[in-house]
Amino acid sequence: MRGKIILAVDIGGTTCKLGIFDETLTRLAKWSIKTDTSDPTGVVLLKKIHEAFREQCEVLNYNIEDAVGMGIGVPGPVSFEAGIVHGAINLNWSDDVNVVRLMQSFVECPVVVDNDANIAALGEKFLGAGQNEANIVAITLGTGVGGGIIANHQIIHGHNGSGAELGHIRVDHDQRFSCNCGKSGCIETVASATGIVNLALFYYPKLALQSMVLPYIEKGTLTAKEIFDAAKVGDSFCLFIVEKAARYIAYLASILSVTTNPKYIILGGGVSEAGDILIENVKEAYHQLTFKPAQKDTHIVRAALGNEAGIVGAAGLIKTYILNKE
Ligand code: ZN
Repeated sequence: MRGKIILAVDIGGTTCKLGIFDETLTRLAKWSIKTDTSDPTGVVLLKKIHEAFREQCEVLNYNIEDAVGMGIGVPGPVSFEAGIVHGAINLNWSDDVNVVRLMQSFVECPVVVDNDANIAALGEKFLGAGQNEANIVAITLGTGVGGGIIANHQIIHGHNGSGAELGHIRVDHDQRFSCNCGKSGCIETVASATGIVNLALFYYPKLALQSMVLPYIEKGTLTAKEIFDAAKVGDSFCLFIVEKAARYIAYLASILSVTTNPKYIILGGGVSEAGDILIENVKEAYHQLTFKPAQKDTHIVRAALGNEAGIVGAAGLIKTYILNKE
């Protein structure tokens, strides 16, 4: 007879990644299904996820009754204790969805739900660059900027779930670019993939520098990738932009260092794939900026799990909040 299992799902706007793990977070199975966004109440999608687990357990000869918990990640704000998702644009959930209550009408085991940035941080903590340390921070630099803070092995949710919304810390005090949140100057406007393009378009007319990315600027097709590619081969304008973005990321990292004093500050997301050119600039600025005792033995590292972090973290929710709960 097979042992206890953890069910884990990372719900995204187009696909849901599913996984079955054992209690040590060894992955026993992984697959994905298309995300059904037809139902704004969430019931249809959650039912399909449950069906997918049931079928897969049958195929692999696991007993779904042996599940010790189901961890769920969603792309939207979550009230963690209540298990409620307060709308999710990418899922077409316009209103509150009580994910825990709905899923528990299908399964016997405990269900834990959290947002995608928090579970990515938890995934990196357990099996990625976090090396299972009690205190880590993950900053996801993608189309936007997301974050997750783990302190004393627990995810920081805050009093209403807005803890670790790192993308909306104001770092550009000139507030040159407006943010999706309705404010301006957030780190998302200067250090996400779109933010780096914002910086390039802002500085290009001001600096008398030649650049390989000029044709992209003229065509209106510039992306962060062109900027990083050009910076890697020494394009001085793009190097200038990378240094600017890195300085904002370092500023955020320095705030986090004196707030929760993490052992690892983990940079993930598409922008982090720029690699050494970005991370070395972040490190240099971070060491200049940060209160000395708070930067001692803190390492700025790249994320290790890529887009697998979410599914590992969803399983990690069960490890943290069900199995390891005192
Ligand atoms: Zn914002």
